[in-house]
Amino acid sequence: MNKDVSFKDLTTFKTGGNIKYYFEVTDKNKIIEKVRFAKQNNLPIFILGGGSDILVSDNDFNGVVIKYVGKSINFADAGEDVVVTSEAGAVWDDLVAEAVERNLGGIECLSAIPGTVGAAPIQNIGAYGQELKDTFRSLLAFDIENEKFQEFNKEDCQFDYRESIFKKKEYWQKYVICEVKLKLLKHYSPIIKYESLSKYLDLSKPHSLKEVREAVVKVRSEKLEDYHKLPNAGSFFKNPIISEEKKKELELNFPEARIYPYKDKYKVFAGWLVEKAGWKGRSLGPVKVSDKHALIIVNPENKGTTSDIKKLADNIKSDVLEMFGIELEPEVQFIAFA
Ligand code: NAP
Repeated sequence: MNKDVSFKDLTTFKTGGNIKYYFEVTDKNKIIEKVRFAKQNNLPIFILGGGSDILVSDNDFNGVVIKYVGKSINFADAGEDVVVTSEAGAVWDDLVAEAVERNLGGIECLSAIPGTVGAAPIQNIGAYGQELKDTFRSLLAFDIENEKFQEFNKEDCQFDYRESIFKKKEYWQKYVICEVKLKLLKHYSPIIKYESLSKYLDLSKPHSLKEVREAVVKVRSEKLEDYHKLPNAGSFFKNPIISEEKKKELELNFPEARIYPYKDKYKVFAGWLVEKAGWKGRSLGPVKVSDKHALIIVNPENKGTTSDIKKLADNIKSDVLEMFGIELEPEVQFIAFA
């Protein structure tokens, strides 16, 4: 147990208040002790992953933070596929690197995404046309209220665009994800369609997993902000899903709008909306929108607070709403404590 910890040390935005009790747990069978400690002392519990997609209130947290840090990764042959079982505390990109090294396909486009394996299903992480749900098989979680383990298969998780059941109110913070199982493919040559990778890949032909990973890592390091240098939590807003009617209206006024088909609707690139509304590279107090990518809010030199970041996000939201009639929804989860 550590008593002198702040969310500033545990989140990639480098903001948030102090934590009353902070526990790192390396074995899933030890979670129950920490849960009971919180219950006996009548303290709220907050389950933390990599801290890379949350924005935590500046107020101090008079409760118990539990971080599951078990990191073991196991690969098991299953005929045409390989089943990977990873503890939730493993670094997501370490898992991708190991899979690519073993020539196992299905997650190579998800290279260099910050965060832990346990957080990946919560967000249904996605990039360059690949999503976690494509290879997801099941996960094991500890149910805090009922103090028992529960398995969730793909259907149970209700995956959607950057969404899962674990982000819904009734499930949010009710489970500690301990273990994730993925099914990776032995024989797989990806064809990538995302133009943004064309600098490093010929999009007309298949590539080795290693080539795809290298291209993704290069493009991400050029286009996105490294949170070690400039604290941030990746894309701040989700890409809004719009109707056919709204798409036509948008294209009429802005023929250059970046719009892509999504199921029976369309998605518009939120970064384009933010840039068009004039926010790319712009500051508000100590925080700003990245110069490189309009969807990333950065906290230079850790000088900003969560309330500074919220204020900037609210300003962006209202300008985008006024200009386009589209409501931006945060992808980053805001965590408020009473
Ligand atoms: P990008 O490749 O230019 O993509 C910008 C946006 O356009 C993305 O949101 C992407 O949707 C969409 N897009 C581009 N080409 C597409 C295609 N062929 N078909 C469908 N949609 C297309 O630049 P980027 O902003 O650097 O993003 C690259 C990838 O990394 C994207 O998949 C993005 O979602 C992902 N990413 C995720 C985060 C995060 O924190 N969650 C941060 C940065 C980038 P999708 O988002 O649906 O892919």
